[in-house]
Amino acid sequence: MSEVLVVGGGHNGLVASCYLAQAGLDVHLIEARDELGGATTSKEVFKGVGARLSRYSYLVSLLPVQIVRDLGLNFETIGREISSFTPTSDDRGLLISRRWDERTEISFRSVGAERDAQAWQEFYGEIAEAAPIIANTFLQPLPTKNELKRALDPKTFATLFERPLGESLAGRFSSDLVRGIVLTDGLIGTFADAFDRSLLANRCFLYHLVGNGTGEWRVPRGGMGALVDQLVARAKTLGVKIETGIRAESITSSEVVGRQRDGQLRHFNPRFIVAAIAPREVDRLQGRSKERSFAPGSQLKINMVLEKLPRLRSGISAEEAFAGTFHFDEGMEQMQCAYAEASSGSLPRVIPAEIYSHTLADRSILSESLDKNGFHTLTLFALHTSYQLFTQENEKVKEEAKVRLLRQLNSYLLDPIEECLARDEDGRACIEVKSPLDLEQELGLPEGNIFHGDLEFPFREETENLLWGSETRTENLFLAGAGSRRGGGVSGIGGHNAAMAILNQLE
Ligand SMILES: Cc1cc2nc3c(=O)[nH]c(=O)nc-3n(C[C@H](O)[C@H](O)[C@H](O)COP(=O)(O)OP(=O)(O)OC[C@H]3O[C@@H](n4cnc5c(N)ncnc54)[C@H](O)[C@@H]3O)c2cc1C
Repeated sequence: MSEVLVVGGGHNGLVASCYLAQAGLDVHLIEARDELGGATTSKEVFKGVGARLSRYSYLVSLLPVQIVRDLGLNFETIGREISSFTPTSDDRGLLISRRWDERTEISFRSVGAERDAQAWQEFYGEIAEAAPIIANTFLQPLPTKNELKRALDPKTFATLFERPLGESLAGRFSSDLVRGIVLTDGLIGTFADAFDRSLLANRCFLYHLVGNGTGEWRVPRGGMGALVDQLVARAKTLGVKIETGIRAESITSSEVVGRQRDGQLRHFNPRFIVAAIAPREVDRLQGRSKERSFAPGSQLKINMVLEKLPRLRSGISAEEAFAGTFHFDEGMEQMQCAYAEASSGSLPRVIPAEIYSHTLADRSILSESLDKNGFHTLTLFALHTSYQLFTQENEKVKEEAKVRLLRQLNSYLLDPIEECLARDEDGRACIEVKSPLDLEQELGLPEGNIFHGDLEFPFREETENLLWGSETRTENLFLAGAGSRRGGGVSGIGGHNAAMAILNQLE
């Protein structure tokens, strides 16, 4: 009998396993799929094309350096000097450096947003002060709301935790283009109205701006799979027993029943259970279906390998335009309009989206020959393409969305993107589209929600009986995945905190 059974071999399940095994516990991990890593993996997607793509998640900000150090992982991330570029319909564009500089100032002026230059610096200056204070609580027991409030400047607390993000942005910035660039951090993987009083966009925004106390999004050297490879190696060294191809079918306080690929049932009777899977899946396995409601997944991810980067109409080099986040059609009004259209059941006529290139920062994911021949990868992440739009005719709607998005993108390019795509060994263009429905079917993400459900603020109410944010109503069952409080994204925080909750009980 194992002391701990971990259900789910995504990065959070692996992090929890490593911490618990490092503390001397006997740990057994089961994973439903044949592969470990969940949404944090790298793969050669196109036949005969040597590019290991971060197929799902792609950038890292929230993974605390402390976890990398505690577990002795040889995992590195790469910073980028350019934060974003946003082309405009009149062939200009806004280029923003990671640190405010003269070039950024000139660029704000060039798109008629000079009034927002000062507002931008003030807004992000306030957040930069709050970010380390908030991030420093992530690997600690949950603070109460009042404790966090007392630690922060009242104005910043209100912006982040109390006032709908859309209202704050409308009050502080005058350019719709600038408002939109800021707002995207509240809408990545989150289907929400910017003015929604439930503050869903605020919650997403918060986690996008505070990772490691800086909120910087960095490129994982070797791709996301490099993190999982390190975690798996560490878990094995620590003696964690890992079995893939076993899907948990029920969980009670004393037993987990799993089914192997060959149909055989397996019974586990551990002292502690770590559920590194979505809360809705835990509910289902405990016989409580449909209790939990959350906003559906709403992103479309398009992975591409290119023979060459396209030239841009604005005249900026592709190397700079795609060095950070390339936003297109992400003005605030545009995104509100897309949200309304998707909410009423139609694919937005103009789909807001952004692009990033891994290979401009790290070429180690390419084979020698692709590297030598100047190939690149691009990832397109589209917003407000919600789960329900795909449930009837997934392939048809994906194709429609792809055509629409490439047409939108091409309006900013001199070289149509289709002419830049590499070909696989059967002559097919190297482009794949993943809808929220695909994510549900391939990875088990409920309704394609990339955070396993609605993100929650990183505090507890005074009345809440939570210490680490991993506790459940079953005493020896702990949530470790993205759906635990503070767990969303590639962070390992859910895994760490579930392990701490168990180790606390053993003290
Ligand atoms: C397209 C996409 C892009 C993203 N981009 C980013 C990004 O750039 N940066 C970022 O920080 N985050 C990003 N995210 C979010 C991030 O990837 C996830 O929040 C995170 O990977 C979740 O990790 P996890 O270990 O908690 O769960 P998962 O990665 O979902 O792993 C859960 C594992 O549990 C297994 N499982 C499920 N049910 C069972 C069962 N019954 N029995 C056994 N095993 C089971 C699954 O097969 C899976 O392997 C993205 C996600 C997606 C989908």
